[in-house]
Amino acid sequence: MNFDVIIIGAGPGGIFSAFELSLLRPELKIAVFEAGNPLNRRKCPIDGEKIKSCIGCKSCSIMSGFGGAGAFSDGKYNITNDFGGTLYEYIGKKRALDLMKYVDEINMRFGGEGTKLYSTAGTSFKTECIRSDLHLLDASVRHLGTDINYIVLENLYDHLKDKVEFFFNTPVRHVNKLETGYEAVCDSGSYTATDCVISVGRSGSKWMETVCRELNIETRSNRVDIGVRVELPAVVFAHITDELYESKIVYRTETYGDKVRTFCMNPKGAVVNENTNGIITVNGHSYEDPAKQTENTNFALLVAKHFSEPFKDSNGYGESIARLSNMLGGGVIVQRFGDLIRGQRSTPGRIEESFVTPTLSATPGDLSLVLPKRILDGIIEMIYALDKVAPGTANDDTLLYGVEVKFYNMEVEVNEHLESKHRGLFIIGDGSGITHSLSHASASGVHVARNIAAKA
Ligand SMILES: Cc1cc2nc3c(=O)[nH]c(=O)nc-3n(C[C@H](O)[C@H](O)[C@H](O)COP(=O)(O)OP(=O)(O)OC[C@H]3O[C@@H](n4cnc5c(N)ncnc54)[C@H](O)[C@@H]3O)c2cc1C
Repeated sequence: MNFDVIIIGAGPGGIFSAFELSLLRPELKIAVFEAGNPLNRRKCPIDGEKIKSCIGCKSCSIMSGFGGAGAFSDGKYNITNDFGGTLYEYIGKKRALDLMKYVDEINMRFGGEGTKLYSTAGTSFKTECIRSDLHLLDASVRHLGTDINYIVLENLYDHLKDKVEFFFNTPVRHVNKLETGYEAVCDSGSYTATDCVISVGRSGSKWMETVCRELNIETRSNRVDIGVRVELPAVVFAHITDELYESKIVYRTETYGDKVRTFCMNPKGAVVNENTNGIITVNGHSYEDPAKQTENTNFALLVAKHFSEPFKDSNGYGESIARLSNMLGGGVIVQRFGDLIRGQRSTPGRIEESFVTPTLSATPGDLSLVLPKRILDGIIEMIYALDKVAPGTANDDTLLYGVEVKFYNMEVEVNEHLESKHRGLFIIGDGSGITHSLSHASASGVHVARNIAAKA
């Protein structure tokens, strides 16, 4: 079957490419291939009763399907160049911000109106942070919440389904370069198009490496972020989260000079499992609907690990650490901060007696047996630093879940149009290694769509 444009992956990058292309060039025949299910059929079988842990579904409903990895996320769209990706390095800071604002407008039109836009600009908390050697990054944050994020996706799908041909449960196995255009090879057959947009996210990272090898596209890879998810009573961070919702705070450790940062803050949220290539790590989310909120706030504390030559497999390093926690705990491990400091494992009894009730059922254990000393020392230092601006952070009952790993896809060589060295082959979103967030991935989708649409 012939199309004008083939989009591989229906995460935010793919959805916004399809959205903008169908808007600007409604006459184009556009196909979207997605390895996972349509949104309404995405269901993780873990119910906590009959099925307690990952059973390795053919396609993971948490990471794959319409909406991509972000479908059940907290739906925090950070409108900033300070974090979430390096799109601005390719297209310039102003254009990147304009695109993120455009994405926000679309989200508002498709069900997000009424949700809150938070901003760190001019906040007194920034000064308070600096006094404790903590650095608050600048951003505007649109918090859709898991519930509204889902509604926006539903509405976007309803809007697109008659304009774009969707192929669900259809992983693309190979991309072949033809004399004019590209061929996407799937189990059900081959499909061709003049332009091809690859937006396969983190779940498609291994496949992306193969494509780059087969098409001789240069890649670079040297970073992984490793840490824990912290859970504490919501009141401890309420003065920060009520004003800013999400605060990205960076701290440089005294011992090693490493940077530790807060990531993905979920006020009154829940800690959740995340499955990456069969390895169980931890993440978090929260709901806009007060009825679904909890009494706890959670956020990650991450240490970025950069490697230099000859080591290249930074994701492999992160996976090995996560595997170790899976080996000891059968999944995610939880430990009270007080137990960690006293050098003792947390037991079910100690967790039971704790004043903080865990929102995720994880195995009580000892994170010092899993995390490298340097990383753990950095996290402990940061917890004490945060205790100065949010007293209570370093309480004995603060819960630490491990491990949280942020895998980065290798960075693919593309130009300012996000086009590879092969004309008409675009690589965007988290799969390109350039973005690591909903807003940047979506913005990269709009950017390529406009480039393709501008072609004669
Ligand atoms: C639990 C969780 C919470 C998160 N919360 C936030 C948040 O609040 N804010 C934020 O900014 N970011 C968040 N993120 C990150 C965010 O979801 C990603 O940055 C974003 O989804 C990237 O979009 P993408 O389109 O590049 O890739 P993805 O969303 O990963 O989508 C890629 C799609 O491609 C499909 N695919 C892969 N390989 C193939 C193939 N060979 N053929 C066909 N299809 C394929 C996959 O099935 C997937 O659906 C969260 C992530 C997770 C997992």
